[in-house]
Amino acid sequence: MKLLMVENILSEGIPEKVQKKYGLTNGEMMVLGMMDPTPTKKLLEWITKHYVEDMRNTNGYPSAGEAEKQAFTSGFHAKHQPVIESWFENIEKKKDNPDFIKDLVELLGNPNHPIAKSPADINVYDGLYVLRRITEFAEAFMSKSDIKKQSIKKKIGNYLIVVPKSEGASCYYGAGTRWCTAAKNANYFDRYAKDAIIFYVINLGKEEGEPLQKVAVLKYFNPKDEHDINVGDYTLWNVADKQLKGLDPEDIFPKDVVKWMEEYYNKSIDSPQPLSVKAKTKAIMESLHTMDGMYLTSTLGPGWRFDSSDYEMDGTVSFAKEVPPEGWYIVYATPYYDGRNIVPVELQGPEGDVLANTSFALTPVTNKHENVGPTLAADYMKNMKSIIKDFIEEFDIHDHTWLKVNADREFCSDCGESRALGVTPYPDSDNVQGTMTRRDYLQLPDEYLFDIGIEQLGLTADQLRAKPDKRGRVDLIMWAQEHGNKEEEQEIEGLENAKQRLSKSEQITDLEFSNTDKGEKFLKIHYKEKGPGGGPEFVSVKYNTPEELQTIYKSLDLLNI
Ligand SMILES: [Zn+2]
Repeated sequence: MKLLMVENILSEGIPEKVQKKYGLTNGEMMVLGMMDPTPTKKLLEWITKHYVEDMRNTNGYPSAGEAEKQAFTSGFHAKHQPVIESWFENIEKKKDNPDFIKDLVELLGNPNHPIAKSPADINVYDGLYVLRRITEFAEAFMSKSDIKKQSIKKKIGNYLIVVPKSEGASCYYGAGTRWCTAAKNANYFDRYAKDAIIFYVINLGKEEGEPLQKVAVLKYFNPKDEHDINVGDYTLWNVADKQLKGLDPEDIFPKDVVKWMEEYYNKSIDSPQPLSVKAKTKAIMESLHTMDGMYLTSTLGPGWRFDSSDYEMDGTVSFAKEVPPEGWYIVYATPYYDGRNIVPVELQGPEGDVLANTSFALTPVTNKHENVGPTLAADYMKNMKSIIKDFIEEFDIHDHTWLKVNADREFCSDCGESRALGVTPYPDSDNVQGTMTRRDYLQLPDEYLFDIGIEQLGLTADQLRAKPDKRGRVDLIMWAQEHGNKEEEQEIEGLENAKQRLSKSEQITDLEFSNTDKGEKFLKIHYKEKGPGGGPEFVSVKYNTPEELQTIYKSLDLLNI
């Protein structure tokens, strides 16, 4: 407990220190932070150092635009995050295994190599390339007990029959022989295993090295015409890898041993075999391509679209939705990406930044399955819909419902985002600047009508409540607005509003003359709001005559601009 607290205290401020040291933006720091799977962020400085060396200091980055820079950072994340995660997971599990360290020393060629001495310290790795190599090695490493598990064994009398299920197990049990299925280099295990069941029959009563101490027995379930081998035929090989031509298993093994192998063979060819990742990838992609361009409106909402058309070109399969005015949300999810037996999923936000990562495994399928592609594709879609639904909820991804609430602002009732209105509407909204109309009021929820009626138009709650329905309340509000605003009507439209707005401006940045669709003239005044975070805003004022324009200039103090 105490240790844990010390660790927590130490970890406080690591991101800040690293950010300062390397001069990174908050956006970069967030992405790099997500690449470090440790709770104390102890890998962050190393990751950042190599990010700067491999990315920020490389050709192209310094001169790139903002969006392109973000894409660089996202790309760095996408490429290296899985490696770092796998490195951490594998090294933590294997760093204390003497067999692993022994193999690692052999790989590095030096027992005093810093990585051999402290493989779990990321600082001894020279760079991302080295980290990737050691990670691949650690992923492939299996302990002896793991290897032994990858085989079926049966002892009958003096004989041990082994059916190796992997190259590793084949090498382990074939040790001391010259079988190519057991050789460390140029291993042919996979090549034979796809056509035959491989048995190693070990005579425990014989000395190691005697020609028949170990015999490799292959029984074929696929024909090999070029060698004149039919389905069900046996071939036998002694320790020296000499084929025992003309001999059958019955000639050299006891009956029980042969019977066991016969039964095992019959059982195996009937039982389903799991499909390879390659076969599964081919099958699922064929099915997904038939759904290309499909909209998922009823399950995920309007705008969500599936796209696998770029798969052959850049290996991406994605779901996407545009949310104006922010931009595109894209969920990348390529089945069996990089030959791995999972679907990695990444949510990218409108800024090109990675918002979330996850992954899932597709349902296992075997060679006995019919409709492998459609089965996998249906499972993929089911999983993806559920994951994207979670993303939508977590990141509040929605089309804004723009409601006009006064003469010059609209806001989204779902998230509270608001923006200034102009005399022409935004692409994703119908609202324009100008006095609230009956239609504007009718689209507002009832409680808003109460707020506006009471706070802006001087009505009472009782007056509003006395109306039988919403329509009645809108009629009342329209009446109050017309009678309460009579004086304003005679003024130039929008002038009072502009005066009020510009009193909060720090600086007027631009004046723009324009016409509405109906041909009415207006002056659009661009300005910067006061205070920190005061962004660019604008307000428009309609006019009919040059005299009116003069009045606008004078009353808004624009003559010196
Ligand atoms: Zn919204």
